[in-house]
Parts: sequence; C-alpha cells; structure tokens
Amino acid sequence: MSFLTVENIHTYYGNIQALKGISLTVEEGECVTLIGSNGAGKSTTLRSISGLTPARTGSIVLDGEEITHLPPQEIVGLGIAQSPEGRKCFQRMTVRENLELGAYLRRDSDQQEKDLQRIFELFPRLDERQAQKAGTMSGGEQQMLAIGRALMAKPKVLLLDEPSMGISPVLTERIYETIEEINREGMTILLVEQNANFALDVSKRAYVLETGKVVMSDNSDTLRTNPDVQKAYLGT
Ligand code: ATP
Repeated sequence: MSFLTVENIHTYYGNIQALKGISLTVEEGECVTLIGSNGAGKSTTLRSISGLTPARTGSIVLDGEEITHLPPQEIVGLGIAQSPEGRKCFQRMTVRENLELGAYLRRDSDQQEKDLQRIFELFPRLDERQAQKAGTMSGGEQQMLAIGRALMAKPKVLLLDEPSMGISPVLTERIYETIEEINREGMTILLVEQNANFALDVSKRAYVLETGKVVMSDNSDTLRTNPDVQKAYLGT
C-alpha cells in the first residue's frame, strides 16, 4: 500500500461521468504530476481526493486510512490540503489572514507562527504584502498565496491544481522553483498541469489522463521524450 492510493475511482457530476476508473499512487516524499487536456479529469481527481466531489465508487486511502467518503473538513484534518484551480483566495481578507485561515484546523498554535515565517521565506512577496487585501494582488501573487495557505494546514499531501494557470512564464518559473524546494524538504505533492513542461521537471513520475482514464504512466523523463506526449502536452 502506498502513502496515497487511489484505486479505480468513478466520479460523477449528476449524470455526467467525469472519472471512469482512475488508479494512481503517490509515495511519501514524492512529487507526482497528472497531465491531460481540458476536461480529461485532472481537477476532478484532486477534488475526489480532497472530498469536494467524492468518488461514487472505488477507494482512496491516505497513510493507511480510508478517506473516500469522508467530508472535506475531515480529509483536511487527516492531512490533505488543496490549492485549487483559479486560486480562490478570500479576496477581502489580507494576505496574512488568508494564510492564518489555512491553519484553522491545527491545534499547535506555537508552531504556526514558525510555519508562517517559513512561508514568508519561500514567498518573500507574501511577506512584503502581509497587510494587503488578497483581491488586489496579481494572479501570480494569489497563486503563491493559495499554495502558502495550503501549506499552513501542514498537510501530509499537498494537492496543487494548475499552479501556472494565467500567470507569466517568469512567475511560473519562480513558483515551480518553490514547489521543488518544498518537495526537497520532504513534502509529498500531487500536481495537476495542462502545461506540462515545468511539471515534468519537478516530478519524478507522471500520469497522463484522457477522458476520465489513465492512458499512460511512467517516469517523467521517459514521458518527456515520448512523441505523443510531446505533441499533445509539451508544445514541441
Ligand atoms: P481543465 O484543465 O479544463 O480543468 P480537467 O482535466 O481538470 O480539465 P475536469 O475539470 O476534472 O477536467 O473535468 C472532467 C469532466 O467533468 C469534464 O467533462 C467536465 O466538463 C466535467 N465537469 C467538471 N466539473 C463539472 C461540473 N461542476 N458539473 C458538470 N460537469 C463537470
């Protein structure tokens, strides 16, 4: 059994079947990427793991605990934190308040200030803008904030949904350097990207999704040299 094991999940939005038997694993300390085009089911896979759109059948086990049908707040409590697509920061709250909210389920308040300082080290821009309202930050800054907020939950597994979406190549590179650093420090990460270049650089393994199914899975280096992957997801 892996640290995170997703086994044959089927997930629906009403009558629409988004996932048709997805299976994947993430080992402790690993960074794994899901790539795929629009509508392939990447976000839905993350939403099923975090309980926002629960799987109808199949199973999801985190560190030996079955979480498939638990409510999202319990899943956060057990160690899954998601930085959602489109960021979804609390626009009228400050940067600092957004980060503090990420820790709302934690009991170790003395440790929280230390983690907050670590996030300010990782993202100096957030440090400079602590008192600024999230809604007035740029897209890239809000992306950093969303990642920082998820980290404040001190998760066992960090789920990142398209951290490069809508932001400049320069900021994307910065964010990916930080993701790499977080992973190097031991954080387990499951990453979703449509633009696979950066994601394949930081992850060791990746899964390719098409219409709700895994169609390929391999080491990132191997996938990067696969002509089909290059044509469809790497823009080469
Ligand atoms: P994208 O990068 O465009 O977000 P994705 O790979 O993350 O793509 P999902 O968002 O997981 O794909 O969508 C998978 C399928 O589920 C798509 O066919 C999509 O239309 C459908 N879907 C997603 N959200 C909903 C919803 N709220 N209601 C109905 N169908 C949905």
